[in-house]
Amino acid sequence: VITIHTVEELRRECEQARMSGRTVGLVPTMGFFHAGHRSLMQAARAATDLVVVTLFVNPTQFGPNEDLAAYPRDLDRDSDAARDENVDVLFVPTVEEMYPEGAPLTTVHVDRLTTGLCGASRPVHFDGVTTVVAKLFSMVGRCSAYFGRKDFQQLAVIQQMTRDLNLPVDVVGCPLVREPDGVAMSSRNAYLEPEEREAARVLSESLRAVADAVVGGERDTATVEGIVRERVGREPRVALEYAEVRDARTLVPRTELDGTVVLALAAAVGRARLLDNVVLTIRGSHVDVDLGVRTGGRGTPAVP
Ligand code: AMP
Repeated sequence: VITIHTVEELRRECEQARMSGRTVGLVPTMGFFHAGHRSLMQAARAATDLVVVTLFVNPTQFGPNEDLAAYPRDLDRDSDAARDENVDVLFVPTVEEMYPEGAPLTTVHVDRLTTGLCGASRPVHFDGVTTVVAKLFSMVGRCSAYFGRKDFQQLAVIQQMTRDLNLPVDVVGCPLVREPDGVAMSSRNAYLEPEEREAARVLSESLRAVADAVVGGERDTATVEGIVRERVGREPRVALEYAEVRDARTLVPRTELDGTVVLALAAAVGRARLLDNVVLTIRGSHVDVDLGVRTGGRGTPAVP
């Protein structure tokens, strides 16, 4: 892996690869890699020739009272992980390199998909994400870009932006990766005290209960949202922010369960704000449940 710091070097690497007939795979991240990040690198490695991972804790997607300063960072460990995953290029720009004129006057705003769910409590978040991802897409050029379904709303928003702006990028959604006990992997899990980490299990357990109810015939949205509220409500260390059923593509609220829907949730556990979701595809009495994959342990390949 080569580590580069400038936009110019990034453009050059990607252009040279395409000139010689190679495809480019992009994995945008904020670093502090775990098996979820590594699964995206593996997907890019399997499908493209030049794998580019970007590591940038983007200040514009954090609100004023959020965890920008505390966000965990470990570049040495991340470089080792990128090397282990056969990444070709690790792009680690400074804030000045990404925003040489300070906060940009031009931003990308995706309407509607950004108003509810996480957008309700994080009003500036998605504009920060779409603007920085549009910049990365512009720097890298034609590529396939890999995003995790852990951040389900973010993926839907980026897919919408890419379609709306005809960006030359194939956006690929990848499975949500869980710890062996079911907790969704997140860099923010590093904030959790041991008893908080234990309590966080209730989130994925409540989604499993929802999946079981839907497989058992439940089709009412309010009922399944209630299952999550009731279960999480019994765990005093976990404060549910939202648990909502939405259309998986448009993120429009749904009162009845059919077609492909997502039940997405956010919760505060200690200092961490955690996300999780289950995707359900319902056709008559048949239900397909996508709860992602669990790892066998740290750094090992994800297994269903
Ligand atoms: P982050 O560094 O948290 O901004 O995440 C970078 C990318 O990794 C995003 O596309 C996330 O959706 C993805 N990601 C983070 N956690 C997971 C996970 N547990 N499973 C799958 N993808 C993930």
